[in-house]
Order: sequence, then structure tokens, then C-alpha cells
Amino acid sequence: MTHDACLRAMAQRPSTRQLINWDRRYLWHPFTQMQEWAQEEPLIIERGKGSYLIDTEGRKYLDGTSSIWVNLHGHQHPVLNRALKTQLDKIAHSTFLGLTNPPAIELARELIRIAPKGLTRVFYSDNGSTAVEIALKMAVQYWQQRHPEAGPKNTFLHLKLAYHGDTIGAVSVGNIAIFHSRFKPLLFPTVEAEPPHCYRCPLQLTYPSCRMACLEPIEKALKSHHRELAGFIIEPLMQAAAGMIPQPAGYLKHIRELCTKYDVLLIADEVATGFGRTGKMFACEHENIAPDLMAVSKGLTGGYMPLAATLTTDEIYRGFLGTYDEFKTFFHGHSFTGNPLGCALALANLDIFKNRNNTEARLQPKIKLLARSFVHSSILPTWETSVSADSWQGSN
Ligand SMILES: *Cc1c(COP(=O)(O)O)cnc(C)c1O
Repeated sequence: MTHDACLRAMAQRPSTRQLINWDRRYLWHPFTQMQEWAQEEPLIIERGKGSYLIDTEGRKYLDGTSSIWVNLHGHQHPVLNRALKTQLDKIAHSTFLGLTNPPAIELARELIRIAPKGLTRVFYSDNGSTAVEIALKMAVQYWQQRHPEAGPKNTFLHLKLAYHGDTIGAVSVGNIAIFHSRFKPLLFPTVEAEPPHCYRCPLQLTYPSCRMACLEPIEKALKSHHRELAGFIIEPLMQAAAGMIPQPAGYLKHIRELCTKYDVLLIADEVATGFGRTGKMFACEHENIAPDLMAVSKGLTGGYMPLAATLTTDEIYRGFLGTYDEFKTFFHGHSFTGNPLGCALALANLDIFKNRNNTEARLQPKIKLLARSFVHSSILPTWETSVSADSWQGSN
């Protein structure tokens, strides 16, 4: 570019002031009171590098929430950037309805390889909420088709303070009043149970001498409602949006046993906990359990693009097989299901974990350090605490 052309291009770039004005004039931000937003100076993030965000004025900020739990290896990671560009030179998107594509196929194989044993099938979607919706719909249709003799199993057990996303089904199984109460008329009825909360135990007991008395009401709920329950949906190990409420060691294992005992599918919402966020690839691994359905999203593409998956077992998958005219098909899909760009990124993300960074092992000393620094050791479950995943150090 000539010097003059360069100056012209710079002049055409809207100023920070201009962008702020347009943001206030045209946008509506999520979970945001826009009247107050308009009175504040927004940060306009233009770039990222490693663990840092950089705004239009060139100011640098530590991305302390990993862009709300999605970013794993840092911004502008060379491996992820390259994977995206390589795929972009082939194709950005084609439909997954009646067609398939290489990154989506390879990613499914890789996800099944690393997922808790017993999960054998991958159904893609775009975000955590849709991954949860799909799990709920699969569970209900599974019971109808596989075990019609069981009668209608059309509802779900979930914990209070649960957060599973913002679409109507996900809100139905959630329980954060300020997000959800307004939409009550639209929600389907569910069965709720008290979550464990060792830090402020409502039973005034201490782990482990309590012998997890908090499981008793769960078993009671399962005992009285299992006939109508298609599944029990839970954020394994950590109720994240509730304010990071950890479950004591052994809790999830018992939940697995109870679900099996009462013929209720266990749905693990690993949207927040998946991909190293609790120190292992999936939170379920801490308890050596496999759910019947598992939703993943946030970290799946290393925080680059929207992509989600619902994993399930052969047993559930087989409940949907038949000829077209039996109408056992799972009638669900999205325009961008199996998006090749997202899938190529997710493959690169898993490659970084496994081959390039040894992410899981490198997390362990950081987890120990953070646990020592922040958490009162007497309430620590054996797996210690959740921690922001590894960060690639950029050249900044
Ligand atoms: C963020 C989150 C969701 C919703 O995911 P979106 O991509 O925001 O729709 C669902 N479940 C859990 C546990 C989450 O943390």
C-alpha cells in the first residue's frame, strides 16, 4: 500500500467514539440493562493475544474469565489460527442434513475416543443450550420408542440453582430465579432437588462425616417420581453459574448409581466443565462415571467459534433406528449443524491438548497453587478445585 492509501484507509476506520455511538444506537447486549449500559463507556475489544484482550485504544486487559469459560489456549493461538485458515480455503459450510464433511467425521471419532466409556455417538449443534435441548428431547423420545411399556417419562429431575442455558427447555431444567422466573408460563414442569453445598451446608453437617446426607432427598425424589422421569440433568462436579458450588468427592458416583437403580437417564451437562476446566478432560472422569447423555460446548473449539455436541450411548442411539415410515427419526437439526470451520477448530484444540501442549498434565501444578492460594483446605474435595484452563503465552 502506498503511504497515501494507508492514510486514507486509517481515516476510514471508525474512531472509538464513533463505534461507541453506533453500539449505543444499534445494539442490544446479552444479560445487560441497556439503559445503564448507555451511561457507561464500553470497552471495544479489537484484538487478542495469549491471555490478553486489546481494545481499540490499544489498552491491554487480562482475559480473567477466559471470555466466560470458553477460551482454553489463549487468543490468536497459531495452531488454531492455522486450522481455521486451512479449512476456510476448502469450504466454510455445507449442510449436514443429507451430507457430511471430513472435519465433522474426524472430530466425532476423536470425541468418542476421549469421552467417558460407553458414549459412542455424536450429535452436533451450535451452543450449550441447544446441546442440552437435544439431550432432553433424545431422552424423552428414547423412552417413548424403546420402552413404551414404561409409560410416559416426560419430565426431568434437576438441582436447584442449576444453569443449563437460556432456551426454553434448558430454562425449564434450570433454576436461577432472576433469569428464569419471568418465563414460568412457558416452562414445562420438572422435579427439583437441593444441591449439595459443603461451604454453606443447609444441613449444618461437615464432609465427610456427613456421609453425604444431601443424597437422601435426591433418592427420595427419584423414588417417588422415577416413573415420570426421563432423566436427571446435572452439571457434574461444579454448579458453575450458581457461583461455583462444588460437589463433594463421591457425590456424582452416587448420582450415577441412583439413576441406574431407578431407570432414569443421567444427563451430564459438561458445557462449562468440559475440556480441562476441572483439571481432567471431562469432570465425569474425576468420579469414573459415564453419563447416558453428555452435552459439551464452551471449550470445544478452544473458544474460537460456536459449536456444540450431544454425546450418547449405543443403547439410546438404537432406540431411534427403524425404517423412515416408522417415524423413529430424531427430527431435530440446525442450519449450521456440523459446521466444518468449528469442527476443524475443535480438532486442532484436541490436538493441542494431546500432542502439542500436554495441557492436562501442565494444569496440575497450577491447580495446586490456586487451590493453596484461594481455597480453605478443609472443604476441598479430593479433586481440589476448578481452575481456569491453560493459557498459551503469546509473544506480548
Ligand atoms: C454456558 C452454559 C450453558 C449454555 O451454553 P450457551 O452456549 O451459552 O448456550 C449450558 N450449561 C452450562 C453448564 C453452561 O455453563
